[in-house]
Amino acid sequence: MKIAYSIVAPIYNEIDNLPELYRRVKEVMDSTGETWELVLVDDGCTDGSTEKIHELAAQDKAVRPVIFARNFGHQIAVTAGLDYARGDAIVIIDADLQDPPEVILELAEKWREGYEVVYAVRAEREGESWFKKFTAALFYRIIFRITDVKIPLDTGDFRLLDRKVVNVMNSMRERHRFLRGMASWIGFKQIGVEYKRVARHAGETKYPLKKMLRLALNAVTSFSYFPLQVATYIGFVAAGIAILAIPVVIYMRMTGSQAFFGQATTLISVLFLGGVQLISLGVLGEYIGRLYDEAKGRPLYIVREAPEDQ
Ligand code: UDP
Ligand code: MG
Repeated sequence: MKIAYSIVAPIYNEIDNLPELYRRVKEVMDSTGETWELVLVDDGCTDGSTEKIHELAAQDKAVRPVIFARNFGHQIAVTAGLDYARGDAIVIIDADLQDPPEVILELAEKWREGYEVVYAVRAEREGESWFKKFTAALFYRIIFRITDVKIPLDTGDFRLLDRKVVNVMNSMRERHRFLRGMASWIGFKQIGVEYKRVARHAGETKYPLKKMLRLALNAVTSFSYFPLQVATYIGFVAAGIAILAIPVVIYMRMTGSQAFFGQATTLISVLFLGGVQLISLGVLGEYIGRLYDEAKGRPLYIVREAPEDQ
């Protein structure tokens, strides 16, 4: 059967959101009169969401469950959803209804006009702490500045992708994934549609600070060498200062100046440069660790149950 739209939702302990997600997606997608499927990727749920997904799948063939063997993280869950999706247009959406399914109609309209990537821009965010909003705003701006890919500001993963784009994405099997960056990197005809990001329907955020930092690090290391180059810049500046300082100190000694004597000066400069060197090593480590992960070539995710198993 030919499927027009695939809706992909990653699920990590969203039991109270699932029925409402299904109901609203169904309502919106039925109104298009086209064929559609809802790919629910269970990212190692422990709260009974898995059973709920099975229930929905038993009652409606349009629901296709992909059940992971454990938690692999949001970006990997979406990746699996893209792998299993069969539609001509694929929509990535959060399961917590922060991205209103009704916006899909607007995304689809742009798609029919010929755009191949239609990303949803958060014009407003509701029901999130100022800390989350501030770190998110900062994050998107830093990424925009230091990466070589121009990732649109204030866009999440909520977007519609044409089949052509998804086929390219599926061929990119990098492990530390930042999907919105990958989608920008690919090119094609892209456009944004503004929407209002509302509060979670139920439950708590599954993105604690640690996961947010990891996503930010993946974004930076996947799309920029800037952190590696910082060491070079600091090295040139430090070496420059040292070279300039030599004649200055010689002159001061000859004229009998007492400046720059003592341990404190030595200690501070040694500690400062030692610190810079250790940080640079750590930055190198971030890149080498990722290289090592890629070299191992393990599968991106492990599926306990694929949709065909139903
Ligand atoms: N999610 C996931 N695996 C994870 C964390 C989150 O599949 O390890 C899903 C989650 O169920 C939701 C989406 O990713 O559908 C976005 O997560 P969340 O709403 O918690 O993030 P926030 O909106 O707070 O940034
Ligand atoms: Mg959310």
